[in-house]
Amino acid sequence: MAHEELWKVILSDIELQTSRANFVTWFKQTSIVDFKEREGEVSIAVPNGFVKEWLQNKYNKALVNAFRSASHNIKHIQYVIAKTSDVFTAPNSSTITKKKKETPTDNDIKKEIQPEIKEFSVDSETNLNPRYTFSNFIIGSFNELAHAAIQSALHNLGRVYNPIFIYGGVGLGKTHLIQALGNEACVRYPDIKVRYITSERFMNELLEAYQQPNRMDFFKERYRSADLFIVDDIQFIAKTEKMQEDFFHTFNALFEKNKQLILASDRPPKALATLEERSKSRLEGGLVVDVGFPDYETRILILKMKMREKRFALTDDVVEYIANSVKTNIRELEGALNRLIISSKISNTPLTLDEVKKILLNSTQPIRKFTTPKKIIKAIASFYDVKEQELMNQNRKQHFVKPRQVIMYLLRNELSLSYPSIGEYLGGRDHSTVIHACTKIEKDLKNNLSFEEEIKSIKEKIYKL
Ligand code: ADP
Ligand code: MG
Repeated sequence: MAHEELWKVILSDIELQTSRANFVTWFKQTSIVDFKEREGEVSIAVPNGFVKEWLQNKYNKALVNAFRSASHNIKHIQYVIAKTSDVFTAPNSSTITKKKKETPTDNDIKKEIQPEIKEFSVDSETNLNPRYTFSNFIIGSFNELAHAAIQSALHNLGRVYNPIFIYGGVGLGKTHLIQALGNEACVRYPDIKVRYITSERFMNELLEAYQQPNRMDFFKERYRSADLFIVDDIQFIAKTEKMQEDFFHTFNALFEKNKQLILASDRPPKALATLEERSKSRLEGGLVVDVGFPDYETRILILKMKMREKRFALTDDVVEYIANSVKTNIRELEGALNRLIISSKISNTPLTLDEVKKILLNSTQPIRKFTTPKKIIKAIASFYDVKEQELMNQNRKQHFVKPRQVIMYLLRNELSLSYPSIGEYLGGRDHSTVIHACTKIEKDLKNNLSFEEEIKSIKEKIYKL
């Protein structure tokens, strides 16, 4: 069997064992360059040292097994950095430009470039905060794919995955990661233009530009000239058609020029309720990766790193206690540490475990949640961009049916209201309609992960009101 065919067989085996995103990330631009069957040795070409390391560490065993199940007794796989033709065409490969930039060497990749930061002020040109770097970013299984995707963007700006869409809950490091990319890109490629912005600020600037026509040119020039455009919190993108359209004009203009686009959001593209389908599929067309929750070991690592950064020491039992009691996100982990630092400075003594427990008890206890039917309805209407009144009447368009069902479900689940009273709240509907809605939403939640995310963010919205 020719090398190319054999590699296809091996890859089809690997593909079954891994997610599409992972598969494309690591096996794009790989091939067999040498195969010594008798010695049981095979050499695989990989595009850069980064992929090499990853395949060696994470996929070696799976690859050996794949060769074995294809009846080749491979004992050793060698990974060599080489430019080769691709045996499989990954989606998006057409966006690879011919721009010649050297493939980074291993040394390049390992070299830690940490800019000298005297103070953390946001750069007015890029809008990046220099405190976010890769050197103070801990990688664990919860964020390794997102980190890998971002690294790949750093080494192949605009040439491999575009756009890259990172999503995950609050305080899990999305902003840190994408800003670290921006900061590092500025150091590595001093000639490129990097722009970081939250979607909210983008909309505000756009609004200003609408009001003062001469600002429009400035606005366009500022963003359409970017080589690396990073948009954070895309879930807050405006609901008005005109603004979305203008946003996607910028987005498309950059995309067509193979400029690297990075987006972050608290939910996957599918769950961006206010976005039109065309835009969603654009966002999904690149690489979509999520960030999960850090496990216990990673929480310990993060705490230790933050302690070094803040030049503050705590005993191991205290660190373990914090890692055990703060599980939800990294921002809270940092918050807990900060509170302890302050208390310790005030008392001017090292903290004992008992003192730590007391200090953190108040702050880590879940806040008792309280809401009202009014708030629930308001939050949902705003989330789906419909008028509250429209949800009360008999309009049966799908556009209204879903938000209405979500209201019924949340009134039941968050406030334990009776079915008839829920019917009352929604313009006098029958209780059987309410039961049907609740069952339907429950079923959808089980089958649809992005819908689960959607409900999660609606709840966040409700409890913020
Ligand atoms: P998100 O954008 O996902 O809401 P942030 O990026 O704002 O989260 O992260 C919240 C805080 O936690 C920030 O102070 C950030 O520096 C810190 N943080 C997040 N992830 C990591 C990580 N992997 N390693 C170190 N610090 C992190
Ligand atoms: Mg953020």
